[in-house]
This record gives sequence, structure tokens and C-alpha cells, in this order.
Amino acid sequence: MHDNRLIVEGRLERFVQQFLPGALYRERRPLAVEAWNVPGEPVPAPVAFAAGYQPVTLPHSWGDPWGTTWFHVTGRVPEEIPPGTRLELVVDLGFSGPRPGFQAEGLAYLPDGTLIKAVAPRSSHLPWDPARPSIDLYVEAAANPELAGENTYEPTPLGDRATAGSGPLYTARAFDVALLDVGVWELAQDIWTLDGLMRELSPDSARRWEILRALERMLDAVDPAAVSATAAAGRAALAGVLASPAAASSHRIVAVGHAHIDSAWLWPVRETIRKCARTFASAVTLMDEHPEYRFACSSAQQLAWVKQYYPALFERIRKKVAAGQFIPVGGMWVEPDINMPGGESLARQFLYGKQFFLKEFGVDTLEAWVPDTFGYSAALPQIIAASGSRWFLTQKISWNQVNQIPHSTFLWEGIDGTRIFTHFPPADTYISELSGAELAHAARSYKEKGVAGTSLVPFGWGDGGGGPTREMLAAAERLGSLEGSPVVTIDSPQAFFERAEAEYESPPVWSGELYLELHRGTLTSQHLTKQGNRRNEHLLREAELWAATAAVREGAAYPYDELTGSWHTVLLQQFHDVLPGTSIAWVHDEVEQNDARLRESLGRVIDESVRTLVGEGDLELATDGLGIREPAAHPADVSLTEEDAGFVLDNGLVRAVIDRRGHLVSLRDAATGREAIAPGAAGHRLVLHRDIPNEWDAWDIDEHYRRVSRDVDEVESLETGAGEVVVTRRFGDSTIRQTLRLRPGSAALDLACEVDWHERHALLKLVFPLDVHADRFAAETQFGHVYRPTHTNTSWDAARFEVCAHRWIHVGEPGYGVAIANESTYGHDVVRHTRQDGGTTTTVGLSMLRGPMFPDPGSDLGRHTLAYSIRPNAGIREAVAEGYRANVPARAVRGAREVEPLVRVSHPAVMVEAVKLAEDRSGDVIVRLYESEGTRASVRVECVGDARFVDLIERDVEPPAGAEFEPGAVSLTLRPFQLVTLRFTAAGR
Ligand SMILES: [Zn+2]
Repeated sequence: MHDNRLIVEGRLERFVQQFLPGALYRERRPLAVEAWNVPGEPVPAPVAFAAGYQPVTLPHSWGDPWGTTWFHVTGRVPEEIPPGTRLELVVDLGFSGPRPGFQAEGLAYLPDGTLIKAVAPRSSHLPWDPARPSIDLYVEAAANPELAGENTYEPTPLGDRATAGSGPLYTARAFDVALLDVGVWELAQDIWTLDGLMRELSPDSARRWEILRALERMLDAVDPAAVSATAAAGRAALAGVLASPAAASSHRIVAVGHAHIDSAWLWPVRETIRKCARTFASAVTLMDEHPEYRFACSSAQQLAWVKQYYPALFERIRKKVAAGQFIPVGGMWVEPDINMPGGESLARQFLYGKQFFLKEFGVDTLEAWVPDTFGYSAALPQIIAASGSRWFLTQKISWNQVNQIPHSTFLWEGIDGTRIFTHFPPADTYISELSGAELAHAARSYKEKGVAGTSLVPFGWGDGGGGPTREMLAAAERLGSLEGSPVVTIDSPQAFFERAEAEYESPPVWSGELYLELHRGTLTSQHLTKQGNRRNEHLLREAELWAATAAVREGAAYPYDELTGSWHTVLLQQFHDVLPGTSIAWVHDEVEQNDARLRESLGRVIDESVRTLVGEGDLELATDGLGIREPAAHPADVSLTEEDAGFVLDNGLVRAVIDRRGHLVSLRDAATGREAIAPGAAGHRLVLHRDIPNEWDAWDIDEHYRRVSRDVDEVESLETGAGEVVVTRRFGDSTIRQTLRLRPGSAALDLACEVDWHERHALLKLVFPLDVHADRFAAETQFGHVYRPTHTNTSWDAARFEVCAHRWIHVGEPGYGVAIANESTYGHDVVRHTRQDGGTTTTVGLSMLRGPMFPDPGSDLGRHTLAYSIRPNAGIREAVAEGYRANVPARAVRGAREVEPLVRVSHPAVMVEAVKLAEDRSGDVIVRLYESEGTRASVRVECVGDARFVDLIERDVEPPAGAEFEPGAVSLTLRPFQLVTLRFTAAGR
């Protein structure tokens, strides 16, 4: 037989593009339209309903960037609704292309305020009950600008209302009442699924040809001039190939309806709130029509917004949760960045997320759901387990530039040894439309073939695109058992995980972090957002500690609502496009405003609590860890002398030499006398790199940044003061003032930087070449640290050229090491080289500032302060101490008495990360602690009341074997990096 495959496929393409769409509606009649432009920011629906509308004729241009226009639409349903048709309305706001979620969006309301559904590209219809002959509705249309364009990453002024300009962005083209031809629509769904499947099958397979011939018979049967009348004949031609069942060995897919809505990104938070309302309204409306449909919603914050701003919709959601259709998943407050938030922050993501789902819906989520985040810290498995969850779903690591994770389903082992059953959907998308290409890709790239056979596919348009569509549900229905295709079943994430676990007896293990080999700039972009996060975390730590201590000791009122509200803001700002610095200017400006408020309000909680504790008096006191004491007197002053080599700072513990270029050329501790700085090298050196990634401006640092750089060593002035040397430099359009300071009694040299930053597409690194032979370095992560190699033996090592560290980084040899601590830096790199003298120099680089131009062309411009400290002769214990000191400096306070710590731990490796009162407001004290050195630690923990062991949600758990209880104390042995939460009951004290 002659091979005419390409000709038939071409014939099909023309039919689908040219003849099928026009036949979908048998009739379309325009409705009467009037419009009201909202002056300024969006208003609640009742305000809009009462506004003054002007009649408009279509096409109608509307929408300043970020503006809102309400359309009031009226008319009558047709006299007759013929069989085989469905009455609906069709809206075209002037959609600029098929990509939903990144352009104009609308939400339709009945005049009584009931939400109907969103309108977006690919889902522009609205259901209308034919029993209501008089059509009357409102569409709230958002003129969200298309910021991403064609992903060229060119600077755009659109991300800030102040610079976005004015003038209509969109032209509304249709508000019609229409009769959908159901037969034609069903034919279109048949064709879409079969065509998609066919193109994924090998031309050598008989099944591909079977489908081709059926489609060819369909094309013969359907008259392009009379599609409606001949659609049934077309469907009959396809019925046979659609009925052919899937093979027994087919890959099985659990399809979960989903809408990945970024909580802020190329739009501000206020728009996300509306995106949630649009998407969830569409979801519950679709559920009414499709009882089999399941929709997973992963972010408690988004549902909390809906509860606050759209209470009637929230009640509809509540009913759908009870019916098992709307499924809360993930258990976190938002889908946060996982690299940078502190340990306590990730604990609170689960605490407040799960608490919301439990309280509002009675649902205890069992899976962590973070598909889109830019890398996953090795601390996460233990935190997931400590929240009472069992499973983890992720996706983004499939974007790795070099190496692919070898598993689709595996046990992910964290720093403490906890293993979590993890799935990594092989479809490589969390916004699937259940296309043949996506499903075939899932089956092909599923890595567990032969031992397991099920994967999960999240389907539905994200980011305000409206979530799953009726077309996707139609596809799922056809794919339930279809020869050549994976078997698709719509179900819940929990059903997937239970099935996947049951079919896979001994999954492979991946130990350590899931490093994303991309988006490494997210550790540095938008420094003020990152610094704010770090400060907020530590202010919350202090506020809770002192407020809890004051409540227990002095009976002071504990500011539950204020602290919870502050946490909610901090957790929202850890969202995976906010903390990474990849949002528009509008978002980051709001973060800075929120942070200023948090600094003020948390500062007040701290001050009031501390004053209550110390009383009125004239004793000079200072906060010191968990207590308040008279500060220790330091006998030795700091000497500053001038030698040939430069200026020498010496406090008897540390001796630092700063040359006349302002570089740190020598750093020795008195105990060993050993030199920390590599011979002939200069520490505390500034290096300015050209930093133009190939794509993803704010997201990426590409490895080629290393090739073009210059030292910033011009000295404008060099001054000395008490115990300090201050150097000012000017470079490009920027200035930097670096202060090197040695305090009495300190084992570390403090380094403060004030930068006025005006460089674009540049990366400023602070570099320390150390005379240390280190094969690996330690970087703090949540509740512990991770080691990474300093070499590039394998492609995995080479790809990790920019990594995350929290408060400190440590390089060492047995018996000697150097710790470098920071208060707002996350991006680090560590390299080493062998010198002429045979010694090894290990160089630590800290990424201070970048200048990406998309999506915020002005990101990081202006003034910054950054602070570091370097401590020679430091082990991990000293590094941990420096990290705390850099982030929780002692507060001086005047009072009548010292304050004994509310909580005492007997082992120096055991760190208390949080002291707070319990969420149930019982007055119980919650104490979270962890082993910080990677060792085993037998510890006695003292507080007041009887101790119980609880999870992150403050629910009782089994005490660890060997725990010994006594009144006001518990003794236990912690495993390396073990995280423990204790509840000391108020009743027991
Ligand atoms: Zn995202």
C-alpha cells in the first residue's frame, strides 16, 4: 500500500484548524454590554454593582495596565434551545493568544454576588441556566499586562504601577449568548485525543496506522460545509479505535486536577487573591457537572484569602472538600522556597498550613507538595516527617541543565537519615492538559519500569488560567483505557501515593539535597527581600522567646494573634518567587514595606517582654542566649598598631593585619598561632563579575560568570578608629565602605559593608582565600548542615558551582578550620587550588549583590548593608555559635534583675531553635531543639511543667526510646541532626 501518512495528517490539520472551530457553536448572538472602569485598585463586587456604567459597542478597547474594568452584560436566552445543543455565554476580553494566566482574565458574577466562573483563553465560556430567560451578569476584567512576552527577559516597565504607563491593553471582542453544538464538541475531543496519541506512536506500529485510517474515514464522513449535520458520522468512524482497550502492561497515570498559582510573581499579591477566586470558582462549577473530577489545592494561604475576601465561594469549597472533590494537599502555608527559609520557618509552613486545613476542613494532609521550587534542602525529609506527613511530591529538578535524577519514585533520605517516599512526576509538568505528548513523555521517562508502573500527572492551567477545563476532563474520560496510551484515572494524591507505595516494595534511595542545576541566582537576587526574611525569622525567635518567658515568669499576656499574623506574612514572603527575588518590583516593594512594619511591631513585643522580665532598675544587662545577664567584662582592650604590612588589630585572642589596600592579609588566633589567610593572598577581597545569564535574568547565574571579573581594590580613603579599619572604595557608579572591626573578647573579626549599588548585570562577590586543605565544606541548612565537595570530579559536583548556606559556612582540616558567618547572604561558592609551594588554598566566595534586569529592571539598586564575620581556629560548634551571634546580637537593656533562662539544655551541640507558647493557648510551653554538630548528644532539657513529645503541629507523639521524664525536665539522646519538639504542660507547673 502506498504511504500517504503525511498527506492524511496534513488534511487533518487543516480540518482541525479551519473547519472545526467555526462549527462549535450553532448560533451566537451579541448581548448588550456596558462598562465601568475602576479608578485605581480593585473594589469589592457590591461597590462595582452600584457603580455608573456606560454602554459600549464591540470591539471595545479597555484596560490600563493593571486596571480593572467591570462589564455589565444583559440580554435574553434564545426562544428555542434545539436538542443536541447547550446554552452558554461566550466572552472574549481580547485575549492576546492561547496562553492562559499571563494576560487578561475575567471573573463572572450573578447580580446577587454568586461567582459563576472565570473567563480566560482556552476556557472562555460561561454556563447559563436556560430556566433563567433574562441574562444579567457582570464580568470583572483584569488588564494584567503580558510581562513575560516571548521570554526574551528584556527589561520592562510593566512590573510597577508607577512606571507601567496608561492606555488600553486589550480589545473586548465578544459577549455572546450561544448554542454549543455538543456533537461537534465531542467530535473535537475525540480528534484531539486520538491525534495526540497517534503522533506519539512509532510509524512502525500497527496502532498508529489504525488510528490514522480511522481519522481518514472521519475526514471522509464529515462534510466541512456541514460539520454539525455530519459530526455523528465522524464520531462513528472513530468509535472503533476509541474502544480498543489499553494493554495490561500500560503505564498507569493518576491524574490530579490542579492549578499551580504563584502567590506573587509577575503580578502583585492582590492579583493572586483574584486569581485564586477565579480559579477556584471555575473548579467548583466544573465539579457540579463532573462528579468524578478531583482538584488538589496546595496552599493554605490561598484558601485563607478566599475565606476572607470571597466567603460564599469558601463555603462552596468547604462542601466540595467534604464530598472529596476539592482536596487540600501539601500542608504548607505556601509553596515556599526550600533552600533559604530557616528551620523554624519550614516548621511553621507546616504548622500553620496543616492547622488551617485541620480547622477549616478537618483534613490532615499527608503529602508535602512543592512542585515548582528551585531546589530542595536535605533537611526537608525530617521536617516533613515531623509534621506527621508521609510523602513528598516535587517536579522542578527535571529542569536540571546537566544531570538527571535517576528515579521517578524513590525514598529521599535527609541529613538525619529520615526517609520520605517521594514522587517526581515523569510528565515533567505540573500544568498538564493531558495531551498525548505529555502522557507519552510520562510513560517514556518513567524510571521505575519493570518494578513499578504508576505516576502522577497534575493537570490544569495555572497562574490564573483557571485550572482544569472541561476539555481536559473529556480527554481523561477517553484515556481511561485506550490502546497505545497510558491508562489515565482521575483521583487524589493520597490515592496515588497509596497505590505507588503498595506496588513498590523497595524503592531506590536518594540521599542528600535535590540540587537544582539552574536558577542559582535566586540565592542572591533582591537582597533586601532576603535580608528582611533573615531578620524577620530572628525577630520572631526573640519575640516568642521573651514573650513566652514573660508569660510563664510574670504572667504577662502572650501576643498570640500578633505573632501568628507576623508568621503568616513571613511565610507568604518565603513563596518560591518572592524570597528568591524573581518577582516584579511591585511585589518586592510591598515586601520591604511589610518588613518595616514587622521590625517595628516585633521590636515592640521584644522590648515590652524584656522590660517586664528585668523590671525597673539601673543594672546594665544584655540578652544572652535564652537568658538576660550582666555582660561579662573583657579585660583586654583591642590594640591598633601600624606596621610595614599595614594596620594590626589585636585583642589577645585574634590578630588581624589589614594592608593599605584595605585587604585582610593575615588572620591568626592566639591559641594556635596559625595563619588562616593563604600566603600572598588577600582576604575580604571584592570581586566584580560580569553576570549575564543566557536566560532567566533574576533566576540564573551561569557558570561563565567566573570568566570575566575584576578585583575592586581602588581605595578612596582608609581610616582607622577604635578597634577598626574603614576603607571606602568607588567602582563603576557604586561605592562601598568596608569596616573591619575587632571587639574585645571576640574570637572573630567582624566585617561590615555599606554599599550604594548601581551596577547592572554584575555580581559582587566577597572572597576569602584560606590556607586550608579542605576536600569538602560545611554549609548550614535547616536544623543542621550539609557537606559539599570543593572539587569538580563529576558532572554533579561541577554543576554545583553556586550553593546555599544559611548563617555560616565552614572549611576545615582535622583540628583546624575557619568559619565565615553572615546575616543576609545565601549564595556561596567554594573552590580550591594547589599553590606553587605545594599547599592548598581553599577560597570561599560570598555572593553579595546582583543586578538582574528582568522582571524588575531596578532590582537591588541603592543602599545595602551587609555584615560578616570570620573566625579562625573554628570547628562546627564555633561556626554554629558565630551564625547565631551574627543574626541574634545581644540586646543591651537596663533593669533591676538578671533573668534565668526558661529553658536549659545540658549539651552544647543541642540548639534551642524556638521557645513559644502552644497554639491551643493552653499556656503550655513548646520547645524545639535539634542536634547541630552531626553527633550523638545525650541531653537533659529543663523547663517548667511536665514534658511531652509532640510533632510540629503540637500533637502528641511517642517519646523516643530511652527518654526519662522527671518534673520540669526530660533526658534523652539525640541522633545526629535529630529534631525534637517538646511540650511542657502548664498543668504540671
Ligand atoms: Zn511556581
